[in-house]
Amino acid sequence: MIDLAEAVALVERAAAPLPPRRQRLLEDCGRRLAAVVVADCDSPPWDRAMMDGFAVRSSDFSRPTEVVELDVVVDLAAGDVTGITIRSGTCARVMTGAPVPPGAEAIVPVESAVDGTSGGHAGGRVRLADPRFSPGQHIARRGAAFARGQEVLSAGAMLGAAEIGLAAEAGAAHVVAVPRVRVALVSTGSELVACESVPGHGQTRNSNGPMLAAAVSLLGGEPIPLGIAADRPEAIRALVAQGLAADVLVLSGGVSAGDLDLVPGSLASAGVEQVFHKVRLKPGKPVWFGTRARPDGAPPALVFGLPGKPASSLVCFELFVRPAIMILAGAARDRWHLPRGRAVLGGPAKAAADRPVYLPCRLEGPPDRLVASPLPWTGSSDLLGLAGAGGMIALPGDGRRHEPGEPVEILRRDLS
Ligand code: AMP
Ligand code: MG
Repeated sequence: MIDLAEAVALVERAAAPLPPRRQRLLEDCGRRLAAVVVADCDSPPWDRAMMDGFAVRSSDFSRPTEVVELDVVVDLAAGDVTGITIRSGTCARVMTGAPVPPGAEAIVPVESAVDGTSGGHAGGRVRLADPRFSPGQHIARRGAAFARGQEVLSAGAMLGAAEIGLAAEAGAAHVVAVPRVRVALVSTGSELVACESVPGHGQTRNSNGPMLAAAVSLLGGEPIPLGIAADRPEAIRALVAQGLAADVLVLSGGVSAGDLDLVPGSLASAGVEQVFHKVRLKPGKPVWFGTRARPDGAPPALVFGLPGKPASSLVCFELFVRPAIMILAGAARDRWHLPRGRAVLGGPAKAAADRPVYLPCRLEGPPDRLVASPLPWTGSSDLLGLAGAGGMIALPGDGRRHEPGEPVEILRRDLS
């Protein structure tokens, strides 16, 4: 049994950022670029109409007059092109997104057409009243957003939705990025049934599987749910063998000291080297961690055996698996862990004598005067008390009853 801080440090030491690789752009958010994205063409690639209206020449608007009457020589929707040049006395009817035809120098919005709301179409005439005419108006010039050869995203940028859109606009169908961390998930226990089933006598729904998959997704990782392994060595070994192909393998259940706690033995027989087993922590004492070297010199697989009791499993995920995933994803150190802070207790809380205790709490008040109120919670199997909690109170292992008003350390949970 080791101290919590030492166990966390051992996980941090075993984890290293995954090597970047060239990958399809159209995967997911949450990847970090390892190379710049350079535009392969100007954007827009041609002068683009930015309003529905009429593409006109300046010369027709050079004298102060109330109404300009023009022949409409062509209609252009987005995607249409024309060889017709706009000359004095004529115009093109254009829709937003259409290319500005040759000769035209500005777009007069459709609202300026008098004698009707929409004005003329090709073959007809339109009367335009527009005192606010200026050359270039409502035209996005070729290259106005960015030019061919321009760096639009720098190495190190996180790919969010806007960045993926920009890379697509710049023609980067592939990017060099740190890949999403692949996390294989195995729920062990002969009593477990999928959540779609009504549990029979003696059966328990597999809540850890969906819960841990969601926790992985929230961190930008790629969960690979491998399902349930019964408490038989060969059943566990089969799923462990599959799971070791991922960057991280997370098992739940089967790590305590009972006869059917077969996970440590199954992992050892699969060549996973134990780093620690059992941590001074409540809930989460039985947690197991090890690494498995890879033949090709690639970073080792990180393997976690989380306790089966669901709240215990999630606390251990947050304390140990989260930093591993964040480090593999190349995150900055200040994002490895759930944010810690200070609060005052809003109600009494009992510490354990031998190890730190984590208790779900409600957090209220401004950040500098946070009040952390313990929620009704029966312990390591109780997800009802954990669901909706704004954070966890971290009490030291001093065996004391901590009174309302006392300062405490808290971990914030991001529920947004
Ligand atoms: P274990 O750690 O395997 O001894 O399991 C401890 C307790 O957690 C038992 O009551 C199990 O039924 C329960 N448990 C284990 N795995 C899961 C799971 N995936 N979902 C819900 N409960 C579980
Ligand atoms: Mg079990």
